[in-house]
Order: sequence, then structure tokens, then C-alpha cells
Amino acid sequence: MNTRIGILGVLALGTSLSLTIGLTGCGETKSPEQITADSLALDFPQVHAMAQTTMVASSDDAADDPCVWIHPDDKSKSLIIGTNKRSGIDIYNLQGEMQASYPVGRVNNVDVRYGFQLGDKRVDIVVATNRSHNGLSVFVVNSNEQTLTSLGDDLFPSAVGEVYGFALGQPKMQDKLYAVLVSKTGQLEQWELNGKSGSIAGKIVRAHQFSSICEGIVVDDFTGVIYVGQEEEGIWKLPLDPKSNKPPEQVFALSNSPGLISDIEGISIYYASETEGYIIASIQGNNSYAVLEREEPHTYLGSFTIQKGLAIDGVQETDGVDVVNRALPGYPYGFLIVQDGHNHMGGKLVNQNFKIVDWKSIAFTFSPALKVASEFEQ
Ligand code: CA
Ligand code: CA
Ligand code: CA
Ligand code: CA
Repeated sequence: MNTRIGILGVLALGTSLSLTIGLTGCGETKSPEQITADSLALDFPQVHAMAQTTMVASSDDAADDPCVWIHPDDKSKSLIIGTNKRSGIDIYNLQGEMQASYPVGRVNNVDVRYGFQLGDKRVDIVVATNRSHNGLSVFVVNSNEQTLTSLGDDLFPSAVGEVYGFALGQPKMQDKLYAVLVSKTGQLEQWELNGKSGSIAGKIVRAHQFSSICEGIVVDDFTGVIYVGQEEEGIWKLPLDPKSNKPPEQVFALSNSPGLISDIEGISIYYASETEGYIIASIQGNNSYAVLEREEPHTYLGSFTIQKGLAIDGVQETDGVDVVNRALPGYPYGFLIVQDGHNHMGGKLVNQNFKIVDWKSIAFTFSPALKVASEFEQ
């Protein structure tokens, strides 16, 4: 940390000198904050992707948010589930090869949870925000076939203007499942989903208004906390318990972080134990990722970037992210998966995809190294 502060100081001094030459290649003027953030990103530790998914079928900004479903018995049959916000859900194997597409509409963010009670069975469930219906699309994972079955796209119409970010939350020691979405105008809407009757029902149990656009969102099932990324401001937390009246508390502010610049996009949690671990956030403004302590006071530990490796291009303008601490075939230390906003293959810009980075390579760019907890099961 001391080294980092030293570099921050030097770059902050350099900022005023570079103001007069702060022009992009297009002649667009960069703000002083952008210049500082870009300079700092050059200094962040660099990691490389070790695998990538098939590119999505749609051009332009289409791939958005990934999550990972871990097979209960045979980890090699686990799936990467990704959204294509122009057409639907795609699923990939751990090699990144596309296995199936579900053209359910303009899905944006997606998440997964295990052991949801549906009638007399326990099922794994995948839910996405879907802007075609302005609500939630719900799927069950078929473990044997490694496929998804849609339970419907219009079961849960949202009351917000436009559904956007999304996370599931399943508090430990409670048989409950919450679906939490946020909108482009900063509305948060929390649903409680119930499948005990054999079909899935839901009711809105909480609403909250943030002051501007929010997208990245994740729930810590152990501590019962929702983390919300307000794109231009920072990260907030609030209790998952919808009956709580505790107002959201800011845990991270972009305005206090010279190396970090809006937008804050995807947020995910690396679980190292029931209480330890990290919050990872995509910092889209300078193509980097910030790492905060999961434990209070959520200290900022540093950032990294994903640069071009021998076979796979670097990652820019990441939207959604997910991180897995558990050992998976090919990834004994788990991995981070991120959307790549500018996917290059053979030197050419092609459709977007998702890139996979070994957690170990991230953990060891930090000093002291971040924790590795490949046996810890949530
Ligand atoms: Ca994007
Ligand atoms: Ca966004
Ligand atoms: Ca790229
Ligand atoms: Ca997005």
C-alpha cells in the first residue's frame, strides 16, 4: 500500500502538467480526472486471460454479464452463463465453447443460485433481467443435460421504468430467495421468489430510490448484504432483509479514488471463508478492476488490468463480471470471468465475448497476496 500511495502522489503531481496535452486521438478533450485515471491504470499490475468464450452472435455492444453454475457432482460439466443483451442467454462449457442459446429477448444481467425449492424438488435457478418484457426471465438448470429450461419471461413484471442490473440473494439459514434489480434511473426493486406450490411465484418486498443510474449489483449470502454500484458515484451496501429500515451506506466513493473513474459496472464477491474475501468491481472508465476487502471497513486494496497475452487480447470497458473461488477443471484456484467490450481476434475487432483469468494470477499480483480458497463451498 505504501508503494501505491507513493505512485499516486507522483502521478497526481504529473496531472497538472499534462492538462494542456490532454487530447484523445479524436481531438476530444480529456478531463483531468480521466488523465489521472488513465495514467494510474498504466501502473496497475497486469494479468492475462487464459481462456475466452465463443463470441456472441450479435455485433456492437451485446455481451453483458456472466455467471457460473457449478455442477454438483462433475465439475467439468459446469457452465458459464452469459447474456447477449440483443437476443438472450448463451451457455458455454468451461473451455468457453458455446453450448446453447435461449433467445428470450433483451436480457441484461444474470445470476444463479442453488437448491431452490420448487414443489417437492430442489432445483438450481438462473434469473435475468429482461428489457423485452421489463421484468425477470427465470430458468431451471437441468443438471443431467447441462441445459436450461425457461419457466417464463413475463411472470414478474417490474414496476421500475427499465430493468437493468440484477442479482440473486439466498440468505444462509433461511429458506428464502430474493431477486434484486436496479434500473437506469436508480430504482432498486427487491422480489421474494417462492416455489413451494410447484410453480414459481413472486412479490415485490422492497423499493428504494438511488439518485442516479445503478447497474452492478451483488448479494453476500453470508452477511446478508446487497452491494449496489451507482455508476457515476461509488458502491453502496444495504441489508438484504427487506424489513430493515437501515439506509444504504456508501462503502466506496469514486470521488475519493484518483485512479478510478466512472462507470462502475459489474460487481462480484470472491468468498475466501464465511466472512473473508473480496469485492471485485469493473471500473469501466479506465479499463481496470478494483479490489476491496469484503470485511468492514471494505478497504480498497488496489486494482489490476487484463492485458494482451500470447493468444488472447486484453480486456476493455468491461460490463459484467463474476468470480469463482472454487477449484474447477483447468482452474485449480478458481477464476474471474469478465465481459470484453472490445474483442480482437487476429488483429480484427469482432463481436464481444467473455474472458477468463486464473484467480491465482490475480491473487499474486497483490502484496501481500490475496487469499486463495479453492475448497471453500458457499
Ligand atoms: Ca458495454
Ligand atoms: Ca452500465
Ligand atoms: Ca479486448
Ligand atoms: Ca451493462
